[in-house]
Amino acid sequence: MITTEIIKVNAAAPEAEALDRAATILRRGGLVAFPTETVYGLGASVYHPESVKRIFTVKGRPGDNPLIVHLYQWEQLTEIVAAVPEQAALLAKHFWPGPLTMIFPKKEKIPPEVTAGLPTVAIRVPSHPVALELLRRSQLPVAAPSANLSGRPSPTRGGHVVADLNGKIEMILDAGPTGVGLESTVLDLTSARPRILRPGGVTFEMLEAVLGAGEVEAPQFTKCDRPLAPGMKYRHYAPQAPLRLYTGDREKINCALLEGIRRETAAGKKIALLAFEEDRNAFQDLPGLSYFSLGERANPAESAERLFNLLRLCDEIGVDAIYAVAPPRSGVGEAVFNRLWKASGGNVEEIK
Ligand code: AMP
Ligand code: MG
Repeated sequence: MITTEIIKVNAAAPEAEALDRAATILRRGGLVAFPTETVYGLGASVYHPESVKRIFTVKGRPGDNPLIVHLYQWEQLTEIVAAVPEQAALLAKHFWPGPLTMIFPKKEKIPPEVTAGLPTVAIRVPSHPVALELLRRSQLPVAAPSANLSGRPSPTRGGHVVADLNGKIEMILDAGPTGVGLESTVLDLTSARPRILRPGGVTFEMLEAVLGAGEVEAPQFTKCDRPLAPGMKYRHYAPQAPLRLYTGDREKINCALLEGIRRETAAGKKIALLAFEEDRNAFQDLPGLSYFSLGERANPAESAERLFNLLRLCDEIGVDAIYAVAPPRSGVGEAVFNRLWKASGGNVEEIK
């Protein structure tokens, strides 16, 4: 155990003193958790391979799952990247700073600890003022995965980071809830056609609008697919209780859910339901059921913002099973679906 300094910072106008202290820790090879607009990240200088290794140790992260390098401006890219494809500048112009990670061939000097031995490196410029200002003050490329214990839902509140990493890292900057709530979109620019490896806040539709119709390969994830991004094969975003994801016709889902919930709660089980605001009334006053709202069905950004916090709440109240209703799979809904699907470990019930 070490002493973790936990500092509350103003999200919109972070205090200079806190940022300078955090930047100094990074420069000396320490670990700092900081908010980004997607989720909280756990950062180390890319030029301290031992510190980067420590990220894997404290998270319990498998060694073959590469990290994302965070920069504060496009101009730093050539420090790290061996070749910059044409599309990258266009994408950066539209989406950086923001929740888009791009994969490039890496320069020799980026240590293998950062990229899990891959010849490519993932890079992003976050838009959160705390992240941006910390990166600027440290003058370092910072390798940072999500600041959670491996396998647990990613942290979208300072308290989530404290719960997972207090006593294991030097500092936690707590600036309240993150905005997007899901990890960044990962786009591979080293294949023939830009390919989405992980859906996120920058959607397929947004990428196509910039690069042109047919120019982006959509994300693929079904039970039989091999994982496209290295880390995607691991059980992710998973609460302690088993989660069953319901897809298909809305009315029929509600009937199936009611039947299942009544049966399970009658048998003394504690059940959590993650469903949309529109269906709240259908599940009123069921003893043994905790209803958690994913927001309006038509607003997947709201579902994204809430999801990981709700999964952690399910753990806190200690339910026996979680049922979740799948969102429509367009726009950010695709990323929400992806995370729920991963949390379910493939336990999906298609109601036709
Ligand atoms: P995390 O920040 O915990 O979500 O982890 C970063 C994720 O970025 C990894 O799990 C990978 O899916 C992806 N990633 C990082 N580097 C690469 C790379 N070089 N090639 C492909 N995917 C990558
Ligand atoms: Mg992660």
